[in-house]
Amino acid sequence: MKTDKKSKKRREELILEGLGVAPGVAIGPAHVREAGDLQVPEYQIPAGRVKAEKVRLGEAIDKALRQVGKLKAKALGIHGLAAEELGYLLEAHGQMLNSSRLVGGIERRIDSDRRNAEAAVMAEISAIAQEFEAMEDSYLSARAEDVREVGHRILRCLTDEAYHGFGGLEKGSIVIAEEISPADTALMDPRQIGGFACVLGGAEGHTAIMARSLGMPAVVGVPDLLPTVRSGDQLIIDGTNGLIIVNPTARRLAGYERRLKDIAREARSLARLRDVPAETRDGQRVTLQVNMELPRELEQTVETGAEGVGLLRTEFMYMNRADLPGEEEQYQALAQIVKAMRGRPVTVRTLDVGGEKLASSLGEHLGEAANPALGLRAIRLSLKEPKLLRPQLAAMLRAGAHGPLRILLPMITTPGEIRAVRKELDKTARRLSRRGVAIADPLPPVGAMIEVPGAALAADSLAQSADFFAIGTNDLTMYTLAIDRGEEQVAHLFNPLHPAVLRLIQFTVEAALRARIPVSVCGEIAGDPRFTALLVGLGVRELSMTAKAIPRVKSRILSIDMHAAGRRAMMIMEQVDSGRIAALLDDFNEMAN
Ligand code: PEP
Ligand code: MG
Repeated sequence: MKTDKKSKKRREELILEGLGVAPGVAIGPAHVREAGDLQVPEYQIPAGRVKAEKVRLGEAIDKALRQVGKLKAKALGIHGLAAEELGYLLEAHGQMLNSSRLVGGIERRIDSDRRNAEAAVMAEISAIAQEFEAMEDSYLSARAEDVREVGHRILRCLTDEAYHGFGGLEKGSIVIAEEISPADTALMDPRQIGGFACVLGGAEGHTAIMARSLGMPAVVGVPDLLPTVRSGDQLIIDGTNGLIIVNPTARRLAGYERRLKDIAREARSLARLRDVPAETRDGQRVTLQVNMELPRELEQTVETGAEGVGLLRTEFMYMNRADLPGEEEQYQALAQIVKAMRGRPVTVRTLDVGGEKLASSLGEHLGEAANPALGLRAIRLSLKEPKLLRPQLAAMLRAGAHGPLRILLPMITTPGEIRAVRKELDKTARRLSRRGVAIADPLPPVGAMIEVPGAALAADSLAQSADFFAIGTNDLTMYTLAIDRGEEQVAHLFNPLHPAVLRLIQFTVEAALRARIPVSVCGEIAGDPRFTALLVGLGVRELSMTAKAIPRVKSRILSIDMHAAGRRAMMIMEQVDSGRIAALLDDFNEMAN
């Protein structure tokens, strides 16, 4: 919000707290992402489409209202004047979204001008804003900004797209916004952007995962961020402790500059482990692989000495675009990664959208679900829409001709789903071979993500159909504890050390060992050294994590005594209280230091 009050704000140091989701420190100028400069499609619609367009507008307004409600709940957590100001503002935004002149005006423009909803919103906000701006009263003229903000919120809900690039920002800028989507994060270049902070978001959401992958400090769930920070403010973002320091004192700045040096020194010392095998003190080898979100992480992956890609999230190919990637484009992207890994396996996961991971190019396939996390997502979507699955499988088969490639299926719940994919894979392989196209020979192994409690409990049955398992502890924790991984209000309850989650991991690992199929853990805990001894103690021998996490996890493995870790894991598995589990684990980790 831009108000007169804000511009008169004191310039002294302010510390804001949130959830630190990607560790590290950055110091740089704030770039507050304004809702302006939206790129939206504008076109005429036929008379027969008017009703559907108004329904689309209605859905976007409902979504915008839900967002405002969520922000209001967050504002309750702030103290003092900022809370009051924010409360009034959000109340006003809510009212504007509820059949106001704005909404009525947009509907009329769809009706009479036959404009698409986005164009109607743009035209209406500019008409109303002009009226306000022409008013003599400075308070009223400032309300034009509120109308624009509400209009832009509707537009974002209509397009569901990343609406801003981050090119052209001052080097080292720290991006400040209400919400940052995974697609937004994909547009951020860590050489250009120091880090980001936003009001919404949880620690295990994909935005947070991508920030960790890019090695970009990030803090989410900061309620009083937008009323406090303005573009150009000097900021320190401390992603390790979840702090945003606005206009820091010289003393604080010096302290953080020392921290930056320490971090760089530690990174240099860990880099020396690059060619050291990940082996426990008593000689147990553990395979460390990389989770990759974007091809630009390839160089770093190769540099860390990773033993393969344990999880390639293919969603990047569908982000920030309106159309779908074809077979050739997918093949080129995958082949580049397989070739760069020079014989080390690349585990490519089929498209995993739905739930919090919405891709704008898939809108028509996903539709509106009452409960998207339980709806048509991941493998369910791929099996329903062969036009999504076939090009993916074909690209994987072709890329597999250049090196070892494994196919991983997300959100599996039944063996039938794995069989259905295998059938499609066989058909695709025959079609490509008939055309004389080179493909993987033999066909790539097909594995299942174990990330739904039911799949973990039926792991012995799934092991009959799958060639390998990858345990996705992010979704497994979410579905087991009924905690939305991207929701900041329940983020404190997201706990992979809950005995229920650990039992499901143990059950899956034992089923895989009995069936003699490989099993890895590729959820975020795989990259957190706090969990390493426990996972290894439970029998896990493959871990897949962001490239940045490999040196620390390797360093932890080098200090572990396998037998002691096994005994501690068994002790932990006898516990029913997650607090006691955490204490037993932390105590074991302390002993290594
Ligand atoms: C998981 O759910 O743990 C996982 C690795 O997959 P994603 O985070 O992509 O859902
Ligand atoms: Mg998952």
